Amino acid sequence: MRCDVVAVGTELLLGQIVDTNSSWIGEHLAGYGIDSLLQVKVGDNLGRVEAVLRSTLANADAVIVCGGLGPTHDDLTREAVAAVMGVELRHDDTVAAVITQMFASRNRYMAANNLRQAMVPVGATVIAQTRGTAPGLICPVRVDGVDKVMYAVPGVPHEMKEMVERAVLPDLRQRSGDTSAIVSRTLRTWGESESGLNERLDALIARLDETGNPTLAFLASGWEGLKVRLTAKAPTREDAELLLDQWDGEVRAVVGEHVFGVDDETMESVTLQMLRSRGLTLGLAESVTGGLVAGRLTAVPGASDVVRGAVVSYASEVKFDLLGVPEGPVVSEAAAAAMATGVRRVLGADVGLALTGVAGPTEQDGMPVGTLCIGIDDGHTVATHTVRVPGQREQMRQMSVITALDYLRRHLAAAE
Ligand code: ATP
Ligand code: MG
Repeated sequence: MRCDVVAVGTELLLGQIVDTNSSWIGEHLAGYGIDSLLQVKVGDNLGRVEAVLRSTLANADAVIVCGGLGPTHDDLTREAVAAVMGVELRHDDTVAAVITQMFASRNRYMAANNLRQAMVPVGATVIAQTRGTAPGLICPVRVDGVDKVMYAVPGVPHEMKEMVERAVLPDLRQRSGDTSAIVSRTLRTWGESESGLNERLDALIARLDETGNPTLAFLASGWEGLKVRLTAKAPTREDAELLLDQWDGEVRAVVGEHVFGVDDETMESVTLQMLRSRGLTLGLAESVTGGLVAGRLTAVPGASDVVRGAVVSYASEVKFDLLGVPEGPVVSEAAAAAMATGVRRVLGADVGLALTGVAGPTEQDGMPVGTLCIGIDDGHTVATHTVRVPGQREQMRQMSVITALDYLRRHLAAAE
């Protein structure tokens, strides 16, 4: 089964936005065992969108077209798809009712052109809209005597992803006649480089290559850590999960200390959950990160039962006067320890976590750019750690957040 991708939008050609939709779709098609051999961008022009759809369908069994489903005059995907199918667009009462209702529930005036989105090519199936106003379309088409299909989905990434996962991928799988289940699991890691992880997992990857199931892929995602994704294919979902359990265990046996979470878990959510399950509250003393740790922790829903607050002790005097740090170099393990102890006291928290370091652009107190000193005071012990964090100012600061939280995670795990 081959499914190609067409991204519609003049802004994509002008470089005003980057076509991340196609790469996301490509990744998910691959995960479903569907080939995607051509992905193109085309501007908001009816003739050219139609021509690209026709040429794509000449070679592929299916095509996903994203973008151009909105209400304005330059949203032409509906018209192009109908032209390729050789059918008329017809007003769909059900879709129109949903759109009208969406505006009413938000108490917003609905411009008449919004009902353009209720125009559906004759013979197409509607993918109900849940997030935006534009519905998706499943459009069967006969090309040179062969049954093929076009899927039209919105350009707005979160609307597109939701529809592709809910409706497009299952429909593609059904058409491909393959009834097996494909399930992925992503192990989230921190603390080892991609090449380092790769090297340590070398023997395991060789064994996986022999069977080809599950497959293993590394995905670097900057300061979110390095992801190791296992994808298993089996007759049923349960069988695929069993296979994943087995290889998840094998991966952890080699690099388990670096695995902090699974799938959608983040370093923030994991450390919060560890503190919560131990009944501990957290106070932060942030110098180099200026509140970024608190920002990322409090972005997680439900953080309030764990996070007491943060002191952004950026100026040295704040460290001395408010947190009780002894006068001396402020980028040091001694200062980090005193900051952790001080913030624990000031905020009445069970655990104090402190960060002090050098974000650059220039060195400070003889400490090079990238130096990060972390301190933890959990009321029983005080622990400190110095690391060299890579990157320029912004990257260094973001990397410091996850580095410090990982240190806290390991500290809590070791204290079990
Ligand atoms: P809407 O109903 O919101 O008008 P639409 O289907 O008409 O949706 P577009 O107008 O093409 O979609 O795009 C809406 C927004 O979605 C764009 O401004 C852009 O931010 C984002 N977008 C569109 N196409 C892509 C793409 N290929 N990759 C990433 N983002 C995209
Ligand atoms: Mg639009």
